[in-house]
Amino acid sequence: MDHLKARIRHVPDFPKPGILFYDITTLLADPAGFRETIDALTAPYAGQGIDRVVGIESRGFILAAAVADRLGAGFVPIRKPGKLPSTTLGESYALEYGTDSLEIHDDALGAGHRVLVVDDVLATGGTARAAVNLVQRLGSTLHGVAFLIELDFLKGREKLADVPVTSVLRY
Ligand code: AMP
Repeated sequence: MDHLKARIRHVPDFPKPGILFYDITTLLADPAGFRETIDALTAPYAGQGIDRVVGIESRGFILAAAVADRLGAGFVPIRKPGKLPSTTLGESYALEYGTDSLEIHDDALGAGHRVLVVDDVLATGGTARAAVNLVQRLGSTLHGVAFLIELDFLKGREKLADVPVTSVLRY
């Protein structure tokens, strides 16, 4: 997977001092890199009957939509507050300073659905935990959470101890 890592641009001090930002636009722009990325994200979940793939705004949308197509599943967005037009379920989570929240359409998933959640980066895990809570509150079966990048030192996986977690690239 080192050839995928080589296509990810590291941007120091973005969006604020001290953060090393993993910029995946350089990977997504490369035809072979994009295809291999989607192959690797999808592989652990093939043949499980997953019928909905949930993507977290906004880079998660790009990856989740392609994974959904590969699995023959539908795509469901989880968005920042106020973006989804119909009635929603919301979940708040703690940031370094303050809180943020995410929303899902309350009719987007139900008890019969077999779900995979996809996002680009697992950092502290707050974002993914909120997404998992939304899926669980709607009563769906959660098959796993798939990330392209996992930042091990931030221990986000500990917040997701009750669900299968896979990541393609670890730092
Ligand atoms: P967290 O809730 O801390 O796990 O943060 C995860 C979300 O923040 C993901 O949706 C990422 O898109 C974004 N993110 C966090 N840290 C980074 C980073 N170092 N580089 C790129 N994106 C990041």
